[in-house]
Amino acid sequence: MAIESQASSPLGPPACEKDAKALEFIEEMTRNTDAVQERLLAEILSRNAETEYLRRFQLNGATDRDTFKANVPVVTYEDLQPEIQRIANGDRSPILSSHPISEFLTSSGTSAGERKLMPTIHEELDRRQKLYSLLMPVMNLYVPGLDKGKGLYFLFVKSETKTPGGLLARPVLTSYYRSDHFKTRPYDPYNVYTSPNEAILCVDSFQSMYTQMLCGLVMREEVLRVGAVFASGLLRAIRFLQLNWQQLAHDISTGTLNPKITEPSLREVISKLVKPNTKLSEFITKECAGENWEGIITRIWPNTKFLDVIVTGAMAQYIPTLDYYSAGLPLSCTMYASSECYFGLNLKPMSTPSEVTYTIMPNMAYFEFLPHEPNAPVLSRDSPPRLVDLADVEVGKEYELIITTYAGLNRYRVGDILQVTGFYNAAPQFRFIRRKNVLLSIDADKTDEAELQKAIENATALIKEFNTSVVEYTSYADTKSIPGHYVIYWELLVKDPANSPTDEVLNQCCLAMEESLNSVYRQGRVADNSIGPLEIRVVKNGTFEELMDYAISRGASINQYKVPRCVNFSPIMELLDSRVVSVHLSQAAPHWTPERRR
Ligand code: AMP
Repeated sequence: MAIESQASSPLGPPACEKDAKALEFIEEMTRNTDAVQERLLAEILSRNAETEYLRRFQLNGATDRDTFKANVPVVTYEDLQPEIQRIANGDRSPILSSHPISEFLTSSGTSAGERKLMPTIHEELDRRQKLYSLLMPVMNLYVPGLDKGKGLYFLFVKSETKTPGGLLARPVLTSYYRSDHFKTRPYDPYNVYTSPNEAILCVDSFQSMYTQMLCGLVMREEVLRVGAVFASGLLRAIRFLQLNWQQLAHDISTGTLNPKITEPSLREVISKLVKPNTKLSEFITKECAGENWEGIITRIWPNTKFLDVIVTGAMAQYIPTLDYYSAGLPLSCTMYASSECYFGLNLKPMSTPSEVTYTIMPNMAYFEFLPHEPNAPVLSRDSPPRLVDLADVEVGKEYELIITTYAGLNRYRVGDILQVTGFYNAAPQFRFIRRKNVLLSIDADKTDEAELQKAIENATALIKEFNTSVVEYTSYADTKSIPGHYVIYWELLVKDPANSPTDEVLNQCCLAMEESLNSVYRQGRVADNSIGPLEIRVVKNGTFEELMDYAISRGASINQYKVPRCVNFSPIMELLDSRVVSVHLSQAAPHWTPERRR
């Protein structure tokens, strides 16, 4: 119920005093976008003026945008790697930030096969927390009554490592869930989770998922929203239920806890929540035992009003499957964030996925935009590109996002391409278009063309001794089954048919490819079970020529035709699949440990 005493926000009537304050903050930030950005840059530059990095560019105490833009180059992660490596090795001098680097956040973007290490400072947690605190007040404008029940969210921490210099390196969400900001958050009736902290914070992914699912089942009638960070995570939970419902139903029927839950503090908390409940156990058995899982989410959690998962960008491939399991419940994408920096939120969280736009909050970092022209020349330091400020972007245009953060990233290319759809007050709203250079993605993994090429080369070494080579290849992210997996189509040239590669060798080629893919991929395969075994489909000779003929028949230029290294257009998939002569799957998991290779 909207509170009467509070003036209604232009966004809508707030649900409570706390929400009123949050909505007011959004108003203030979005009305004063440019002024906030100018102030924020000046603050970052004066604070970090004496860092080794900024001193190189002779700003001489200037904190204005013009001097900054004229002197400081636009950079990529690779440009900063020497500085980042020194910090990782223990150099505590102010290299990038005047505030001590508190830890590294390991991005799902990789560099030379390992996760990128993003420096962060302690106060960034407050900034992230601030953005989180705006999400429910906006949601409450669209979905009333969320204080009358709970959210079933599948949230996980991942393993952490230490850099040679002793700094923690872990994913940003692991850092957040382990922080006091999350662990000792004050009670908020609009934000109550079914999962106890102990379940979220358990590093063992089976125990964590099992206990979160068990709690969700026990509290099924209280659940008003179901979510995970990304769509792939929620589908993994459904798959988990398919594989484990019998044991879960057994626990509920007997009021005991699966002996595989061995973490003592977790056992203690969960055991108290599970009481013998034959009716519930029978219900779960009835719903899960059948072949038909259509609408399972709404059947098991009948009061669910929406699914809270990101389905923009690479995750859009999961929308049909989510619709199937949820009988078409609304999908809500609430925020846009990264390890480098949290960017903004969706002010209309119930809009359909294709209409989702994110409003970048000008208090999070200093944002610039590089007009995205696919055929533009490569950036050089001698001819710096013209970057546009947050308040000055133009509706309809596409830009690459560039950020300057308190933690010491200056004019850093995030790699995301965004399109401006409109403005809320003076703040632009962006549709997420895509991440640059990503060919294949199932979960958090992002494989680019060069990585795929290297993986193919790695695997072809195994078939060389059979006088066989790969003449052409392409790939496909198959998400029809959960977990999804990479499919690689190979056309082979077998010079000695009497001694062609055996089935076993081709299976080994699948594993050889996996071994050479980046650590996020291998972690998904080994630790998270979020990616299935890689598959090679060998196609008949001449298939790729047919593919070219098809492209030309649809208007491609014969001179400029290049084999697409990733495909997802149905007629092309059908053509490829109709020419498959043999199918091979990786028979083992690739090597992965939390430790970095470099
Ligand atoms: P990471 O640094 O590993 O957390 O990955 C951050 C990246 O995930 C961003 O730069 C985006 O490419 C992607 N991402 C994050 N939030 C969204 C979103 N709401 N929609 C689409 N892509 C997103």
